[in-house]
Amino acid sequence: MSLSEIQRRLHAAETAANRAPGAVHLIAVSKVQPAERVESVLAQGQRLFGENRVQEAQSRWPAFQELFDGVRLHLIGPLQTNKARAAVEMFEAIHTLDRPRLALTLARLAQERGASPELFVQVNTGEEPQKAGVPPAEADAFVAQVRAMDLPVVGLMCIPPVDADPAPHFSLLATIAARNGLAGLSMGMSDDFETAVALGATHVRVGSAIFGARNA
Ligand SMILES: *Cc1c(COP(=O)(O)O)cnc(C)c1O
Repeated sequence: MSLSEIQRRLHAAETAANRAPGAVHLIAVSKVQPAERVESVLAQGQRLFGENRVQEAQSRWPAFQELFDGVRLHLIGPLQTNKARAAVEMFEAIHTLDRPRLALTLARLAQERGASPELFVQVNTGEEPQKAGVPPAEADAFVAQVRAMDLPVVGLMCIPPVDADPAPHFSLLATIAARNGLAGLSMGMSDDFETAVALGATHVRVGSAIFGARNA
C-alpha cells in the first residue's frame, strides 16, 4: 500500500461519516521502519508521525528533522517516568497517559518548562490485564485528576483487543470522551481505521498499511 492510497481511503471514510475533509489527523506510525521508508513517506509530504519508544525516536528523528521542515511527532507507546523529560522535549502529543505518577511527573515538567505536550488518556477498553490504560470505570476520575493538575488533556486513546470486533471499543471510548467533554479520540490502526473514523476518531494511527510490514 502507499501513503496516497491511505489518504484516499481516509478521505472516503470522512465523507461516508459526514465528517469534514481533513477532520481526522493521519499519524504515520514509523516505529521500527527502515530509514529509507520513513524518508520516502516524508518526501511524499507526510509530516505527522507516531513513534512508540522515546529512545528510538531520539536516535533518529533529529536527522530527519534536519532534512525536512515541519515534522511533528506523537508518542503512542508506553512512557516510563524516567523518560518523561526527553518525551516532553520531542513530542507535541503523548497518547499514553495512564497513571497518576506519570501525570505528576508531566505536571512538574509542565510547570518547569511553561509548556506541555497535548495529552491523551489511554483507556484499556478491553480490560486486558497485560495492556496499559486505565479501566473504563476509572476513566472519569482519572481525567478529573489530570485536569486538576492543570495538564492539557485533549482526548482519549485505546487499542482494542487483537481479534475482537473493534467497533464496541471505539464506541465505548467515544462515550467516555463525550461525557468528559473531551474532543480528541485517538483510535484506529491499519486494519480498522475506517471503522474508527465512522465512530468519531480524530486521530488514526496507521503503520504497516503505509510503510509495509514491520520486521520484528
Ligand atoms: C504499532 C502501533 C500502531 C500501528 O499499527 P499498524 O497495525 O501497523 O497500523 C498504532 N498504535 C499503536 C499504539 C501502535 O503501537
